Amino acid sequence: MLYTSTRDKSLKVSSAEAITRGISPDGGLFVPCEVPEVSLEFIESLKDMSYKERAKKVLALYLTDFSSDEISGFVEGAYKDGKFSSEDVAPVVKLHDNVNILELWHGPTCAFKDMALQLLPHLLIGSSKKTLKDKEIVILVATSGDTGKAALEGFRDVDSTKILVFYPEDGVSPMQKRQMCTQEGNNVGVCAINGNFDDAQTGVKAIFTDEDILKVFDKNNLVFSSANSINWGRLVPQIVYYFSAYCDMMKQNQIQLGDKINFVVPTGNFGNILAAYYAMKMGLPINRLICASNANNVLTDFITTGKYNKNRDFYTTISPSMDILISSNLERLIFLLHGEDDEKVRSLYASLKENGTFEISEDILKKISDVYSAGCCDDNDTKNTIRNVYEKYNYLSDTHTAVAIKVCEDYRAETGDLTPTVIDSTASPYKFAASVLSALTGDSAAGDEFDMVSQLEEMTGVKAPEQLRNLKDKKVRFSNVCEKDMDSMRSVVFDMLGIE
Ligand SMILES: *Cc1c(COP(=O)(O)O)cnc(C)c1O
Repeated sequence: MLYTSTRDKSLKVSSAEAITRGISPDGGLFVPCEVPEVSLEFIESLKDMSYKERAKKVLALYLTDFSSDEISGFVEGAYKDGKFSSEDVAPVVKLHDNVNILELWHGPTCAFKDMALQLLPHLLIGSSKKTLKDKEIVILVATSGDTGKAALEGFRDVDSTKILVFYPEDGVSPMQKRQMCTQEGNNVGVCAINGNFDDAQTGVKAIFTDEDILKVFDKNNLVFSSANSINWGRLVPQIVYYFSAYCDMMKQNQIQLGDKINFVVPTGNFGNILAAYYAMKMGLPINRLICASNANNVLTDFITTGKYNKNRDFYTTISPSMDILISSNLERLIFLLHGEDDEKVRSLYASLKENGTFEISEDILKKISDVYSAGCCDDNDTKNTIRNVYEKYNYLSDTHTAVAIKVCEDYRAETGDLTPTVIDSTASPYKFAASVLSALTGDSAAGDEFDMVSQLEEMTGVKAPEQLRNLKDKKVRFSNVCEKDMDSMRSVVFDMLGIE
């Protein structure tokens, strides 16, 4: 199978090249030239397999330049026993009636990004062996919280790689900061910057493309790569859990082979819900995909009106991983829906860059509404949902998951569509303990993050994940802060790598 760019269809590369390059030179995103189709028998055959075995089968359909032994090695490494706190890796638990929760946060950092970032290093090393021979890979990440920690855990002590994460000094939660500053591993670095997330991102992008830095890298046999969510190597692992959830629904006798189900996805950069779309295209019986947003509801408006408009107020919410106005992975959907018309994608994205907005035609909007529904929910409703769901169903959800639960309830009430449903749960409630606690008590929580974790445990009897409880006693390894200009950030990079 070959991959092409959303902005230049004449480009054709292998999956290994798509993964090592991350983004296409024309600024587009890599997509498979065709979507592999599967039969119901294929889905049936996955039913009694473990998560790892299911992953090997689904990934093999996309990574055709890798042998089944190679793929097997990647998957065994990524989801190895002990790394995920649930044996099922991504279990489906029942909320009520035929509404279920797909828990994607049992990995090392308690957020769903582990599902992809545990596998990405293996894919990247495997790919670079084919395309770059023996260079050392340097991963630079700018993070607003979850991605940085998940990438650090994914790449720690992986041979031939080094990883360095920049985060905004005052822009991440205390728990997220603690997670990053105590990171273990011999090839990792973490640095705060005096600036916001955009400053961190701008600095990292400038370093990536600076000619002088690239020369120094070349001389030292080093090469940059990226772990961010537009890399195909982050998207493809996410397709697996949609198949896995469907199989678990069959095993639980909630559905029969061939029955359609709905998925509700708390969405930010549109990666997770795009993986669901690929699963559907492949032949997984899906009725509708429901896109859930917080107060930053640019996608709700787009899906209901066909007009994408990022010129609007930006809200800082209690579901920060969804505080996004430009959902990068949407570009892949736009490309697919326009019949792979790269010229159209170029013009729509030129308009987004120039005016902050673009609009699709009636036909394309119709194609979207055939598959997608969308809804949004503000912080107040998010908190009420956390409390109601806990009181009614004894289920403790995090702030992102609560947005999806609320949007799901609204959708069912408005449409009467009671198709069996799976809601993606993207973070452990303990990762956002302050907000969850205050949702339950009605008071604003204050004080030490670890006190709140204990309070939440006492109140609910739900144990916090080991990985978060242990943080309290871990040694802080990284406490440096640098200025936000590129020279300061470059010095941090060079120091860490021991180059000049
Ligand atoms: C990243 C993230 C999301 C958004 O996922 P996308 O793939 O970017 O849409 C939702 N919830 C949590 C907790 C996340 O970390």
